[in-house]
Amino acid sequence: MSRVCNPVLETPTIRYSVQPGGGFLDPRYMPGTRHAHPGIDLNDVRGGDSDLGNRVRAVADGTVVAAGHYPDWGGIVLVHHPQLGVWTQYAHLTGIPVQAGQQVTMGDLVGHIGKGARNQYWAHLHFEVRRSLLPPDFWASNRFNAKGRAAAQTRRLAEAYIREHYLDPEAWLAEHQALRTLAEVEAARGERRGGGVAVDVGTRAAPLNWYQLHDEAMRPLPGEWVSIVENTRTGEKRIVKVGARKLREKGLA
Ligand SMILES: [Zn+2]
Repeated sequence: MSRVCNPVLETPTIRYSVQPGGGFLDPRYMPGTRHAHPGIDLNDVRGGDSDLGNRVRAVADGTVVAAGHYPDWGGIVLVHHPQLGVWTQYAHLTGIPVQAGQQVTMGDLVGHIGKGARNQYWAHLHFEVRRSLLPPDFWASNRFNAKGRAAAQTRRLAEAYIREHYLDPEAWLAEHQALRTLAEVEAARGERRGGGVAVDVGTRAAPLNWYQLHDEAMRPLPGEWVSIVENTRTGEKRIVKVGARKLREKGLA
């Protein structure tokens, strides 16, 4: 059996769950609308934007077939896993380090958790497991949204299509005994557990509510920039102000 991990990994300080209403074909997802949910929405159990900037991993070995930014969605990465007979989609990403055509190994970084193209969501990862090759930003409810068709009818048609072309990601991960923790993934990859290094997960002003959750004192003043720095071992994040020299280096000043 090919080795598989969760797309977001637990560390001593981070736990994830499927957020309420964010399950596969969840009836509580946008009730009364045409929108059927073809994936799962994974979120830090603390909710809100507490997982903003966290690392998202390829769940298995494969080939990146698309990596880019799309209206509404934000960043999307689509990976083909020929040995498993599926494609996995990771959405609402920022800071995508992979390109189409690139090979990835189980546990490789494919992006960071973001908030959608217009920062319109609380930070979370939307994750899909597809049985068919579909466009990266495919949304079945849009395909069946014919003029004059009632929302409930569109949703039923979309759900039938999703059942045919997608798998329930929670069931699929469970069936493949997906690794849950960073330590398990490092062991499976034959990596030595290091002490953890601070990595810069992005220099820009994070959304205001992020500071309310984390460190109000670090909220940037107009013209100031901050970085979110993550300890790769613990997943712990902190905010640092960015000086003029670093801003010039990053081409931001
Ligand atoms: Zn979703």
